[in-house]
Amino acid sequence: MARERVAIIGAGVGGLVAALDLARAGADVTVLERTASPGGKMRAEALSAGGPRIEAGPTVFTMRRVFDEIFSDAGTSLDAHLTLRPLEVIARHAWSSAERLDLFADIEQSVAQIAAFAGLREANGYRAFCARARDIYQTLDASFIRAERPDVQSLVRRVGLSGVGSFWRVNPFLSLWRALGDNFSDPRLRQLFGRYATYCGSSPFLAPATLMLVAHVEQEAVWSVAGGMSRVAEVLADLAQKHGASFRYESEATEIILSGGRVAGVKIAGADQLPVDAVVVNADIAALAGGLFGGAARRALPQGQATRSLSAMTWVTNASTDGFPLARHNVFFSRDYAAEFDAIFQHSRMPGEPTVYVCAQDRDAGAEIDDGAPERLLILVNAPAIGDRHRFEPAEIEQCAHRTFGQLARCGLRVNWDHAQMITTTPNDFAARFPATGGALYGQASHGWKASFTRPSTRTPIPGLYLAGGSTHPGPGVPMAAISGRMAAAQAIAAFASTGRSRRAAMPGGMSTR
Ligand SMILES: Cc1cc2nc3c(=O)[nH]c(=O)nc-3n(C[C@H](O)[C@H](O)[C@H](O)COP(=O)(O)OP(=O)(O)OC[C@H]3O[C@@H](n4cnc5c(N)ncnc54)[C@H](O)[C@@H]3O)c2cc1C
Repeated sequence: MARERVAIIGAGVGGLVAALDLARAGADVTVLERTASPGGKMRAEALSAGGPRIEAGPTVFTMRRVFDEIFSDAGTSLDAHLTLRPLEVIARHAWSSAERLDLFADIEQSVAQIAAFAGLREANGYRAFCARARDIYQTLDASFIRAERPDVQSLVRRVGLSGVGSFWRVNPFLSLWRALGDNFSDPRLRQLFGRYATYCGSSPFLAPATLMLVAHVEQEAVWSVAGGMSRVAEVLADLAQKHGASFRYESEATEIILSGGRVAGVKIAGADQLPVDAVVVNADIAALAGGLFGGAARRALPQGQATRSLSAMTWVTNASTDGFPLARHNVFFSRDYAAEFDAIFQHSRMPGEPTVYVCAQDRDAGAEIDDGAPERLLILVNAPAIGDRHRFEPAEIEQCAHRTFGQLARCGLRVNWDHAQMITTTPNDFAARFPATGGALYGQASHGWKASFTRPSTRTPIPGLYLAGGSTHPGPGVPMAAISGRMAAAQAIAAFASTGRSRRAAMPGGMSTR
């Protein structure tokens, strides 16, 4: 019997995982990727040919069990391919050169730090917050995150009577910022835990309280990956290839062709047309909605404008630092968090004083950096996703760099940076990498309690057309995009089976489509 032919558009983590699962199930898989390598947002840069690779995308690896399952279903293990180490210090936070707070993997260690930093009441508030975040995560894991097409009714049904209490206790109608007021009166702690909204590209002042589940995900464990997160993508691509998927790099899909209302092929820029039975779109759904895959495929999504999530301005460099003992993950908070998000979301401007994230990639448990030695850094500030309608000119980029490095200096960190040894990525660059997004890095913003329900499901109304990636359900972040890749693959496989075309009725060891 002929094998089902599937094209995956995009080799981001969602596309790679879908490719692996589909190839394992016996489908004839072709991954089309417009750039020269796998990973999408998971990427590393080198400042010179042959120089050290510096991670320029995601750096915080969480929910490893998602990847443990993917690798074990593929007949291997995550540990056989990647070396992961749990971090003792989840992140170091600073508000000035005198105010510094570490969050630890061990809750009691954090409690002690918070007590010393902000008093016993806040420390108790933190303990209660951890329980609250765990509660909401456990309630939403099966009922929402891993559910195929959650809406409010199905969520309530899935949560069941026992879970309804914990769901409403969180009060999803409150903003994360307001909900944090129940646990913390110190604004610095509200800022620290409110920042988790930015992991979904959103403002803590507008995101729903349910996003506190991100705090629990980090509390479970944050891992460092030897060789960097971009290795995760490389390993997934190798594994998919080993299971028979083929990869065509520098191949841009320009149209999804329908015949008789269902998917029949993909047009590739400057090349042949690929006849297929199914397509998984791993590009941001804004590209599909914006007609970049043709007018017919566009109808897979409801029309309408969603608020774009955050973009970023980033710098990767290999520079020496002094004045501040960096951990692997570091956050330097602005003095006016509300003004920062107001500038970005209400005025589409770079904030006057940004909160700055610094990933010091050579710092691992126990790893020391010699005084004056250069180290690999990713420095990131949030930005509005206006990369398709505003040109960031050199003077504006320079001003942002000065504000960013000035903010680090205010908190005691000097980075001895040099223009020649630095790669800057602006919302313009992100917009060029991820077409139709304006540089938004997390799909649509999760603003308001309904936003999560409006993110499209991985199955579309067009037979044979599936979606995977951070702009689809269950949302952004490496593990979430991987989950969506699994869902899309499982749905395609189930559809093949139900139309009697499949060589196998079900994917061995795969996840259910619910
Ligand atoms: C700077 C930064 C920091 C981040 N930090 C973290 C973090 O610490 N932890 C975390 O979990 N997440 C983080 N994220 C988010 C995370 O990286 C993403 O949610 C996730 O990687 C998205 O994966 P995806 O499957 O949506 O694919 P993407 O990474 O969006 O890749 C999509 C791919 O599709 C390709 N493509 C698009 N159009 C076409 C076309 N027409 N034809 C062919 N190919 C096409 C693109 O080239 C790209 O390779 C971060 C993101 C960024 C940018």
